[in-house]
Parts: sequence; structure tokens; C-alpha cells
Amino acid sequence: MSAIDDLPPLRDVIARHDLAAKKSLGQNFLLDLNLTARIARTGGRLEGVTVVEVGPGPGGLTRSLLAEGAKRVIAIEKDTRALGALAEIAARYPGRLDVISGDALEVDMAALVGDGPARVVANLPYNVATPLLIGWVASDRWPPWWDGLTLMFQREVAERIVAQAGDDAYGRLGVLCGWRCEARIAFDVGPQAFTPPPKVTSSVVRLTPRETPLPCPIRALEAVTQAAFGQRRKMLRQSLKSLGDAAALLAAAGVEPTRRAEEIPVEGFVALARAFEATRG
Ligand code: SAM
Repeated sequence: MSAIDDLPPLRDVIARHDLAAKKSLGQNFLLDLNLTARIARTGGRLEGVTVVEVGPGPGGLTRSLLAEGAKRVIAIEKDTRALGALAEIAARYPGRLDVISGDALEVDMAALVGDGPARVVANLPYNVATPLLIGWVASDRWPPWWDGLTLMFQREVAERIVAQAGDDAYGRLGVLCGWRCEARIAFDVGPQAFTPPPKVTSSVVRLTPRETPLPCPIRALEAVTQAAFGQRRKMLRQSLKSLGDAAALLAAAGVEPTRRAEEIPVEGFVALARAFEATRG
């Protein structure tokens, strides 16, 4: 473990603060500060940037974000057992670490960050990772308050995020993320890197917001992708019937009625969403 700061090794921190991992909180800790530094750097330089971290736990990634020069880290943690360990990091980096004790699903992050560039970097708890991502990407406000997301997911979820038409993993998540962001898998992380090790491989995903995503009402996009992927092996003329006159929708969007959801690129779903919105007046 390289010495990025003069704080004690994470194993000692975990023992001293009695932070035995809880499965119910999706706790798989990263203790290798070389790896957390690599994650911190994946989204680009951090000087002058405010970083929101969900689930700092004992604070390995938090320490790397601060050591890599983040102007300020806002760390949102549900487990109150971690607050003592995080207070020690805050004392080592005066004025640069704000710890919010609470549930990240209920925190208004945009209100917390204020002006200037902000980024999300997190080793997410797997049980709330997808709803958090959808909250960031499906934001009513665009461009959003963040200029990038660097997030750890289970590999299977990462594949769904970056999937394109024709890929096995392509579905609603891939359409939503592809519409609003450029998404790529930066690197994989094996189970042994975590304490305790999870059953599956994880991946760090990097999402960058598109400046001008194709204009599209988000609720309509959700309705269309839900209908289409709800019956993904069926032709769209069948699967879109729940939305009304499927043939008219497909004609208005310029999409062939015999195509299946998994073959339609993001632009096709945007056209369908706009056609659907028009039918609702
Ligand atoms: N960042 C640490 C690391 O990399 O070692 C811990 C990552 S661990 C995968 C997920 C963290 O998220 C845990 O500290 C857990 O307590 C916290 N957590 C779980 N659910 C949460 C929620 N709804 N809001 C905020 N934090 C949460």
C-alpha cells in the first residue's frame, strides 16, 4: 500500500471503528489505495473540482480523492458507524471534506454542490447503484450539475449501461444512458480487490454528459422503452400496442414495424418517444 497520506492503514481504521462489512448496506470495501487512486483519476484531473462520493465507508476512495487534489469532497454515508473514521480524514484535510449522514437516494445533491465543476466518483453500494444512476442521468435539468460520473458497478450492470443496439445487454438502461451520455467501461476490478470479496467481477464506468442530447420528453422515452423491451423478442408492431396505435407510431417515427427492440438504436427510440408524445397532444 503506498503512503498517499499520513493516516493509518485502512485495515486498522476498520478494526478500530468496528466497521465489519454489512451485506445489507452493500459494503465491499476497497483497501488498496493504489486502486482507489486509479479510480479517482479515471474521470480526469480533480484540482478545483467538487466531488460527490456516495458511500465513503472507511474512506479509502475519499482519501484518494482528497490526495488527488479535489477542491472539496461531499461524502454521503448511510452507515453511522463510519462517521468516526470519516471525521479523522476531515481533520487531516481541513475544510475540504463534508460528510452528510443519510441516504443518498434522498439527498438533493445539486443543492449541495453550489457553483463550479462537480463530479460524482463512487464505489456504489450494489443495492442502490441503478436507481442512483437513473436519478443522475434522467435529471429534469440538462446539462446536469455534474460534468462526469465515475462509478463502480457489478460487471453485468456495467455492460447494460454501455450496451448498444444489437448487444445482448442492450435494454432500457442502455437507451437512457446512451441518449444523455457517452458511456464506457474504464477497467474491470476482480472480486479479490474488495473486503469482503463479492461473488462477481466489477467494472468502473465513466459517463460524460452529452452537451446536446436529441430533444426528447423523458417520460415518453421511458414509456416507449418499457413497452418495447417488456417484450424484447416481439416485433415492435406487437410490443408497442400497449401505447395505442402501434402502426401509426412506427410510421411517424420512420421505424420498420417488423423490427425488435434490441435492434433499434437510441435515435430510433427518441423518434418513437417524440411520436408518442405527439399522440398525447
Ligand atoms: N467507498 C468505500 C470503499 O470503496 O471502500 C465503500 C464502498 S461500499 C461498496 C458502499 C458504501 O455505501 C458503504 O459504505 C455503505 O454503507 C454505503 N451505503 C449503502 N447504502 C447507502 C445509501 N443508500 N446512501 C449512502 N450510502 C450508502
